[in-house]
Amino acid sequence: MQNNSGQYFKVFTPYWRAAYKVYLNKRFSYKKKISIKPLRHNQNTDLNFFDDKNCYDKFDKHWSPGEDAALKKIDTYISSNIDKYEVNRNRPDFDQTSRISPHLRFGEISPRLIIEKIQDSKKINNSVNTYLSEIGWREFSYSLLYYSEDLSNKPINPKFKKFPWRNSKKDFTLWTKGETGIPLVDAAMKQIYEEGWMHNRLRMVVGSFLVKNLLLNWTLGENYFHKSLLDYDEASNAAGWQWIAGCGADASPYFRVFNPVLQSEKFDPQAHYILKYIPQLKIFNSTKLIFEPYLDKNLLKNLIKDKKYFNPIVDLKDSRNRALEAYQQTKS
Ligand SMILES: Cc1cc2nc3c(=O)[nH]c(=O)nc-3n(C[C@H](O)[C@H](O)[C@H](O)COP(=O)(O)OP(=O)(O)OC[C@H]3O[C@@H](n4cnc5c(N)ncnc54)[C@H](O)[C@@H]3O)c2cc1C
Repeated sequence: MQNNSGQYFKVFTPYWRAAYKVYLNKRFSYKKKISIKPLRHNQNTDLNFFDDKNCYDKFDKHWSPGEDAALKKIDTYISSNIDKYEVNRNRPDFDQTSRISPHLRFGEISPRLIIEKIQDSKKINNSVNTYLSEIGWREFSYSLLYYSEDLSNKPINPKFKKFPWRNSKKDFTLWTKGETGIPLVDAAMKQIYEEGWMHNRLRMVVGSFLVKNLLLNWTLGENYFHKSLLDYDEASNAAGWQWIAGCGADASPYFRVFNPVLQSEKFDPQAHYILKYIPQLKIFNSTKLIFEPYLDKNLLKNLIKDKKYFNPIVDLKDSRNRALEAYQQTKS
């Protein structure tokens, strides 16, 4: 799809305005025709998730693959939860998004069918519109993938080709293992390991931490998500990483650095999400300390001694300033 000047859309809102009309005008007649026996996750698949063979057993606890499961999930979501999407979608502690992404990834349901089911429900409200526009972001990502040359590796904004990324295998490994010493980041990296999935807000938080606080190339994160997300999608993943790195289409500006402590206060205020994945932080008796355990050096020392938690690998303020300086260099 192209705009009036014959160019592909690089801004989401006009893209979705045009694309949604297509959805409204062309109805798809859905018939459930074939039945494919659902496969259990097992070690013989060639998906190559992590190097840990046990991950398939873990994933079984969280996901029911197959078309029937996908249809059931979206129907339940539309009838029970979609009306609260606007408010709940940003709260990883609520876990109230639709979790339909792995089903989309494996073609067990189509975005068109989701949209038609929502239209058939006759629900009209802000939450429904926001949900529809998220499906729109997926479509927009596909448009970017179609028109760009190598979306997973090449920044859409050419200025970023010369960005002075750092090189640190050690920091990257600590990020993947959820051992950065920044609890919200670490909890999210544990979630991906346990479930093969991560909440959208946290994809933004861990992404910002990698490319801004650690100043590591966004393609490393893109690659890690590729092999660890059950919903890995070539278009949405690459577009998501380019968005967070500030080099993509309609991207978050590079100077917007997510502060994981403020994000915890706002989106996980009781630290329920963090404690679910890092229960050892329960020894801290306030949410403030759970968000920033390094403020109580004595208590943290005990956890560090037992290798149960870690000192922060960067200072959030200093590393933010370092990122902004690097960005200034690229701009000039
Ligand atoms: C760095 C980064 C990497 C990402 N990688 C992927 C990926 O590999 N695969 C993937 O499906 N999504 C990816 N996303 C988008 C988003 O995080 C997931 O689609 C969402 O978390 C899936 O959970 P859900 O089904 O509960 O979403 P819901 O909030 O219930 O949304 C419903 C559907 O809308 C679509 N959607 C929602 N948000 C986005 C978005 N920001 N961009 C594109 N589509 C969206 C998805 O298809 C999703 O299943 C990425 C986002 C970021 C910031």
